[in-house]
Amino acid sequence: MADVTCARCGLTRASAGRVLPGEIGDEIEQRVCAQCWSEWLAQQIRVINHYGLRPALREDREKLYEFTREFLGLGAPEGDRVPPAS
Ligand SMILES: [Zn+2]
Repeated sequence: MADVTCARCGLTRASAGRVLPGEIGDEIEQRVCAQCWSEWLAQQIRVINHYGLRPALREDREKLYEFTREFLGLGAPEGDRVPPAS
């Protein structure tokens, strides 16, 4: 597995790899280490229970991805950024 400079812990370590599909999966593969990903997996269970999320539903899955980004220090996805005031 390639090394990445992790967005969460700032260390250069082995990548988490391809753990999710799509754009968020690309970002995690390129910017998150395996250690931080495993910490998120443990935390994710608490988040799902706390918010009563059902990851089988698209809406809940997107909510979960928001928490994933926040936890891993990835920031908001491109499309969701507020455009600069003109
Ligand atoms: Zn890390």
